[in-house]
Amino acid sequence: MSSYRTASSGHTRDLNRSAIFRMIVTAGPIARTQIAKTLGLSPATVTAVTRELLDQGIVRVAERAPSKGGRPALLLELVGGAASAFGVKIAPDHIFGVRVDLEAQLMQHYEAPFDPSGDGAIERLTETLGDWIRQLPGDPPLLGVGLGVAGVFDGRTGTLDSPLLGWRGLKLAQVVQEALGLPVFVDNDVNTLAVAERLYGRGHDVENFLTVTIGRGVGLGIVTGGDIYRGFGGGAGEFGHTTAVADGALCTCGKHGCLETVVADPALIAEARRLGLLDEQQGIERLRELAREGQLQARQIFHDAGTQLGRAVADLVNVLGPELVLVSGEGTQAWSYLGDAFAAAYETNVFPPLGTVPVEVDPWDESKWAIGAATLVLRSTFGAPLDNDKGESVRARLEAVAPAAGVVA
Ligand SMILES: [Zn+2]
Repeated sequence: MSSYRTASSGHTRDLNRSAIFRMIVTAGPIARTQIAKTLGLSPATVTAVTRELLDQGIVRVAERAPSKGGRPALLLELVGGAASAFGVKIAPDHIFGVRVDLEAQLMQHYEAPFDPSGDGAIERLTETLGDWIRQLPGDPPLLGVGLGVAGVFDGRTGTLDSPLLGWRGLKLAQVVQEALGLPVFVDNDVNTLAVAERLYGRGHDVENFLTVTIGRGVGLGIVTGGDIYRGFGGGAGEFGHTTAVADGALCTCGKHGCLETVVADPALIAEARRLGLLDEQQGIERLRELAREGQLQARQIFHDAGTQLGRAVADLVNVLGPELVLVSGEGTQAWSYLGDAFAAAYETNVFPPLGTVPVEVDPWDESKWAIGAATLVLRSTFGAPLDNDKGESVRARLEAVAPAAGVVA
């Protein structure tokens, strides 16, 4: 490929290919001249790389833009159906899996009960995942598997700590990858949700936003400058374990009075049982039902949670100054009972010049979390070539995609 500006360097070639592919994924349909201008590459380099992507059938000509005289410019776009990725959200009582195409469009979804406790938990997990993946049709090819898990994932050591699932120092990606024989990525589930919002959702045109999740726990994904902020060691975003009540109730993390102990579902259920609203068999669905029926104590429980959450989110906004806050998670199903209290507390506690930062509620949809996990794989198709061996292995799988029939080059 002598037309590469630096044909002698495979590394530069990979960098160019990744950058060009990323532009087509995130900004397509886009003209070659626009790609060259934006990335500061020579037209010859862009033409060589895009010809390769066209030949492989992972990029196609979308349309020919009208032009004044001369040849109309070709606009290039991703062929979403050329390959696929699998994403899984691991919850304390079940796992939810999706297969998506290269544009993160849902193809299939799966759900199975799962008990994360005990010695055989990871074997049971890999068995279920193996069953799901073996059932998939071979076309389009599967590039890899992403797992979203509540907890802290340290990318430097590859270890996961999840107090919610009772896992400590677990090398989850490595174990599952060995069992499945596919590249496997792991990250905090709220981070995966925020990445999915950034690449394919509400955050597409927003460089700085927060994803706050409520439900069994309270989570936070911080997107700054267009990318996830992980902190040193991957621990950023443990918003649920900021202290809301001095010397409050014991939290799953071992501390007292964390935000989760007043806002997360288990705290609301415990309070409702204390008041005799729920028996030991009834859970959060019944509490929402009572609120819907107008039961005043049930309404008050959600109202108080909304107040605590509104205050805490105002503090987050005061510290981080985002453009937008998204609230997601299964807990948003109760938003009609906690939203007013949230808004009042947020407005009271946000620093006045930041009072215009909008808070939007994302309706609960579990497949979004699993799609977020799949984006760990999709993202690595255009990540920097030196990020890790797994990313390279995903890109190699993508490059091996057979040319699709009828592709117009
Ligand atoms: Zn805690």
